[in-house]
Amino acid sequence: MARKDSIQKLRANLLKRRDALIRSAIGDLSLLQGKPSKTGDVLDAVADTVQAELNSQLLEVEGRELAAIDAAIERLDEGKYGNCESCKKPIPLTRLRAVPYARECIACHRLAEKRKSHPAAMMSRVFDSYQADTA
Ligand SMILES: [Zn+2]
Repeated sequence: MARKDSIQKLRANLLKRRDALIRSAIGDLSLLQGKPSKTGDVLDAVADTVQAELNSQLLEVEGRELAAIDAAIERLDEGKYGNCESCKKPIPLTRLRAVPYARECIACHRLAEKRKSHPAAMMSRVFDSYQADTA
């Protein structure tokens, strides 16, 4: 398949993923807001708090992925998609299939990770496992 066609397919995947994320985020939001606080039972209250905390963390992760997807779609529209922002070379399709909103090739990405060994590493594992599920 030509690179252009593959990229069109990635665009469709991005849009689908975006849709699923938005739906999931809406679900998380309603969980966060919809729970009436129970009175009297301390354990219930603790469980509610923990659940709310988990939901809001999940929402944060989803929000960040959503922003990454939006940015990728924007680059697609501008015809900039698929080129490394650091070394300007085309990002291999294998990498784009694994991380469709990648802004850098693996080499530049690893360099950046080394510079800021940060939650981003955890995030990309989450995204990679999603990609493995749908591959
Ligand atoms: Zn690069």
